Amino acid sequence: MKRIAVIGSGFSSLAAASVLAAKGCRVTVYEKNKTLGGRARTFSADGFTFDMGPSWYWMPDVFDSYFDLFGKKISDYYELKLLDPSYRVFFEDNNVLHVPASLDALYGLFDSIEKNGGVRLKQFLREAAYKYEVGMQNLVYKPGQSLVEFLDRDFLKGLFRMHVLQSFHRYVRKYFKDPKLIRIMEFPVLFLGGMPRNTPALYSLMSYAGLSLGTWYPMGGMSKVIAAMVTLASSLGVEFQTDVEISKIAVRDNLTRGVHCNGQFFAADAVVAGADYHHVEQNLLAPEYRTYDPKYWSSRVMAPSSLIFYLGVNKKINNLQHHNLFFDEDFDSHIQDIYGQPRWPNKPLFYVCCPSKTDPTVAPRGSENLFVLIPIAAGLNDDEEIRHKYFELVITRLEKLIGQQFKDNIIFQRSYCLKDFKKDYHAFKGNAYGLANTLKQTAVFKPSMRSKKVENLFFSGQLTVPGPGVPPSLISGQVAARQALNYLNGD
Ligand SMILES: Cc1cc2nc3c(=O)[nH]c(=O)nc-3n(C[C@H](O)[C@H](O)[C@H](O)COP(=O)(O)OP(=O)(O)OC[C@H]3O[C@@H](n4cnc5c(N)ncnc54)[C@H](O)[C@@H]3O)c2cc1C
Repeated sequence: MKRIAVIGSGFSSLAAASVLAAKGCRVTVYEKNKTLGGRARTFSADGFTFDMGPSWYWMPDVFDSYFDLFGKKISDYYELKLLDPSYRVFFEDNNVLHVPASLDALYGLFDSIEKNGGVRLKQFLREAAYKYEVGMQNLVYKPGQSLVEFLDRDFLKGLFRMHVLQSFHRYVRKYFKDPKLIRIMEFPVLFLGGMPRNTPALYSLMSYAGLSLGTWYPMGGMSKVIAAMVTLASSLGVEFQTDVEISKIAVRDNLTRGVHCNGQFFAADAVVAGADYHHVEQNLLAPEYRTYDPKYWSSRVMAPSSLIFYLGVNKKINNLQHHNLFFDEDFDSHIQDIYGQPRWPNKPLFYVCCPSKTDPTVAPRGSENLFVLIPIAAGLNDDEEIRHKYFELVITRLEKLIGQQFKDNIIFQRSYCLKDFKKDYHAFKGNAYGLANTLKQTAVFKPSMRSKKVENLFFSGQLTVPGPGVPPSLISGQVAARQALNYLNGD
């Protein structure tokens, strides 16, 4: 029985662990924190339960096919609810849009905002559906080790239609003129790691995922998905060790022999590292076994980090849906503050999740659970004074936009920002979502899933292929596990 050490317990690590265990490996997951789930951990306080990271459940097909690998269904573990409206967007001048779950209603909404908006959306989504389908079949489940992987006749034939070389910014404007519609199309790219001008139009597949496949909510929160994956992994024999921080990956003759922690050594035939790639390479490997140097890392474009407030409010809040985007300030200048000249934004856009609108278990009766997120550049200065300033700014704006005061009803409050990402996850520059989805950081241009110096060391997670986000991390773990299995089988 081959022994595998998996570092970290985020989505990618849990996926890798189960795939390897299902193939007969003896897998141990080592997690530095006390709780499992990585950036998707949860915490409870004063009767509220907060998802700490992801809240948008998109691309349900990716979750379905993951559980299907093991002959399981999502309904074996958790209940999924389709959100309708999918989300609410606040624009300037008290303009509010509800983005409906039904496509027909969405076409109608676009028509009401721009002449032929519905037809144009239909065309946009038809093309985006093609990209999604080809992307799922030919791109995202590939390890990205060599361009040869992509020499598939059908894929190459359709390459032109994938718009790999065209910017998302330009592409969207070919279809829509109204700034509100443009923002609806561009926001997934911004929030999940990229400046629309530098992001290939290929990523319009994300707009398809968001608008056509629905926005879902796992009742109980994202932690239910983590719990499902842990239950599945445990049933396959995966062992979990929490509060165990790996301090070194032992390497001899270009092969890892196992991992070290607290003076103990755990032998392994292969290691899958689902912790942040930069941390694993720079801190756990001796210099001669690192594929990338500090210069490489400092030249990477990072996806945004975040300033988050977890708030418990002891009254009901009107005019909020489950997901709420506040785009009442200038989109482009916030994008510049993240990617152009990284600095704290003057007039930030922000996002509010209010899961208690859907799920009574996350807040005491008559109360609301709020998750407020401001996307910011990774690597900024973070201190209590800045956090306080943005708390005041966002709450004041929020109260004005929803037309209701609630600041005095906040009975629980916790902030989370760059310093916490670094401390809790060893996140490079305090990043939240890994690397931005630029062309130069796509597929073979991402940090390699397999170490170039240590034959049996594999990487998974949001800093390698296919990229940031829960579904990509879920895929990443499966692909990394298959790479490890190929190695163990001598293929
Ligand atoms: C605030 C926030 C909001 C997000 N919102 C969404 C969303 O709505 N939808 C979406 O799809 N995605 C979202 N994402 C992105 C998504 O959550 C991540 O891409 C995904 O969870 C990353 O998973 P991962 O497998 O890369 O590992 P991570 O979750 O990053 O886990 C890595 C684990 O490794 C552990 N570790 C690090 N070093 C060591 C060590 N030396 N020894 C042992 N363990 C170690 C860490 O403690 C951590 O648990 C969000 C992320 C954040 C932070």
